[in-house]
Amino acid sequence: MDRQQTNLDLSRRQWLYQASAALVLASSGLSTSSQAADPPAAPGEDERIGKIVEKAKDAGIAPFGVSRSTHFLGVGNAPDDFRAEALEVCEGIGRVFLKQLRDRGFKIDYPTERMMVVILKDATSYGAFVGGVPMLNVGGHFDMDSDRLVVFDFRADAAPGAARTNTFALVHETTHMLSYHTGLLTLARDPGKCVSEGIAAYFEMWRPTGNAPVGRINQPRLESIRRASRQDAVEWIDTAKLLTTDALFDEEKTAEQAYGQAWLMMYHLLSSRSLWPKVVDWFGDLRAGSSDRIATLEKHLGPIAKLDDSLRRLGRELVRG
Ligand SMILES: [Zn+2]
Repeated sequence: MDRQQTNLDLSRRQWLYQASAALVLASSGLSTSSQAADPPAAPGEDERIGKIVEKAKDAGIAPFGVSRSTHFLGVGNAPDDFRAEALEVCEGIGRVFLKQLRDRGFKIDYPTERMMVVILKDATSYGAFVGGVPMLNVGGHFDMDSDRLVVFDFRADAAPGAARTNTFALVHETTHMLSYHTGLLTLARDPGKCVSEGIAAYFEMWRPTGNAPVGRINQPRLESIRRASRQDAVEWIDTAKLLTTDALFDEEKTAEQAYGQAWLMMYHLLSSRSLWPKVVDWFGDLRAGSSDRIATLEKHLGPIAKLDDSLRRLGRELVRG
């Protein structure tokens, strides 16, 4: 008991000491550089960084800097401040992601290793690193095969609304990485884009300012459904087809509608409390890797035609407002 008390006192003193040191630095006009404040490297981390740096050298985009936060490792040629800020966003969405899904019954947690984010200074570096010319509306991507998240700073290319796009891309792509590293999904079993993009779209409107809580209506995704419902060119995609045809998410003609409906489905499933235990079990089977996507869903959520009816109805209701 006494011993514990002493430890508590000590840690409080340490905390006060650190807090006052930070205050002194702040008042003297010096900033606590992200490097100095970074937590130490974990075992094996230097090797992981070494591999990325090698790849960057080959692509002609050295030198790389390194930033660390509690759960993320930021590597890249973006300025120190930008890298540190990006990791703060990653930590923020990480906390929200775990809380939302744990509240719904998912047994998920941070991985033991820091999750790596390659943070590049502009579209040119991104193109060189991933091998190809990026479309300016991409912002970054999480690659399941290499298990790597690569993002770049839009502002360097002065695209209108660049800062907003930066955050959107970072939140969306970090959600993909969190899905595979916290035990919600597994990299060994591709659940299909309807599931993975639905999850990313469920979280993508979150912002560090706290003005856009997770789990509300995703207006841009709903707008895609609304636009499509007014045109004859794009029709409602049958939910069975959405679940099984990943190409719908890549084809220009159907992509917006597919992303919109994937959001709508996840919004429906994660908003309806009575469905939570079934959704948790469904994800368990997705991780176990049953190959028949429709059968796996129906086992837990009932006939897919019925789910399709509910989603069409919900879509119509939300579109009307
Ligand atoms: Zn995505």
